[in-house]
Amino acid sequence: MARIVQKYGGSSVANVERIFNVARRVAQTASNGNEVAVVVSAMGDATDELLSLAEQITSFPPERELAMLLSTGEQISIALLTMALHKLGCEAISFTGAQAGVMTSGTHTNARICRFEAAKVLQALAAGKIAVVAGFQGVNAGGEIQTLGRGGSDTTAVALAAAIGADYCEIYTDVDGVYTVDPRVVPKARRLEEITYDEMLELASLGAKVLHPRAVECAKEHQVVIHVRSSFHEGKGTLVKEAASVEKGTVISGIACDEDQVKFALMGVPDQPGVAATIFSAVAEAGVNVDLIVQSIHRNGENDILFTVAKADFVKVQRVLEPLVRKIGAKELRHQSNVAKISVVGAGMIHHTGVAAGMFQALASAGINIEIISTSEIKISCLIAAKHLQKAAEAIHDYFQLS
Ligand code: ADP
Ligand code: ASP
Ligand code: MG
Repeated sequence: MARIVQKYGGSSVANVERIFNVARRVAQTASNGNEVAVVVSAMGDATDELLSLAEQITSFPPERELAMLLSTGEQISIALLTMALHKLGCEAISFTGAQAGVMTSGTHTNARICRFEAAKVLQALAAGKIAVVAGFQGVNAGGEIQTLGRGGSDTTAVALAAAIGADYCEIYTDVDGVYTVDPRVVPKARRLEEITYDEMLELASLGAKVLHPRAVECAKEHQVVIHVRSSFHEGKGTLVKEAASVEKGTVISGIACDEDQVKFALMGVPDQPGVAATIFSAVAEAGVNVDLIVQSIHRNGENDILFTVAKADFVKVQRVLEPLVRKIGAKELRHQSNVAKISVVGAGMIHHTGVAAGMFQALASAGINIEIISTSEIKISCLIAAKHLQKAAEAIHDYFQLS
């Protein structure tokens, strides 16, 4: 007998038929003699639909109320899946994040799990029941409902697996594993048998949304092996773990595409100490993460500062920057949302030269202009026009022979 956590994403529970499909899989796993805890996301595009409802009310909803609203999506799924399990003759019980003991802290819509008090889930398993837990949500020390950021149900699953000492943590989604690049963008992408936590963390942080970055961090911290699989067909999937068996000659393990970027440009900023600190402190105080940053070479005592943030933070940043432009004596504030970030990731880069050159060469051959470049030990990112994203991904994939 094994103790198994299975997580099913939004597309896997998008309608009643698919909920029954999930219920049958869960029931089969349980009837093989395993203890099963299931984590589910909101049905299909439910979270986007809830966000759009909020937007119709106000473009600046209070974070507390937004978390309150978004958490309802997962609550629908747990109740329906549990009903479907009952219909199939299984004993099952649903838990909201708070009931399951998901303790969170931080901002209401981008909270982190600080503790998983899994006693109730363990009791249910001990009583021979399937525990069905709402992903993406928890409760803070003040009893407030919080959500974990988009894609956060993966993190609920990994944290639950760690808390109950699960033997397996399976993330079921609409692709049959982690690929060299999003297979919806580059159809000839190749499925990876295994990938290391560090490489997966980098890919996820750079926008490959197959796993939530915090889920990978949590898995690494607690040494939980994540098995990414398809909920629609059988297949080997991909293992995310500490040391992947190194594939011969690979320098690049994958490419991440991120269309969730908006670029701000402060033009004609006085070239003085403290200006960048003023700008980015204000952005940080608004609770916004800045992604790429570039400052142009100064001319006539001025320079331009460009940076990108997630699209969801657009209004927040604009609110902060508008009064700041005058305060710091900048000439103009511009923004642009038709940009995308493309990144190559690979631990092998540490020991290989020419990866950046290769990436730029691939983009140049495809006639694509690079706006911003950013690098770390194991990744290189370029900001490009969003309309060129697919062409760029294909060119880089071909250049590094990832197929
Ligand atoms: P779920 O609702 O199951 O959590 P997501 O939409 O969050 O599913 O994540 C799965 C999607 O991630 C896939 O449909 C795919 O388009 C995208 N994706 C991005 N990068 C990759 C990658 N490298 N490998 C596999 N899928 C990827
Ligand atoms: N439903 C949430 C979202 O769409 C969480 C998740 O699916 O993981 O972001
Ligand atoms: Mg997801």
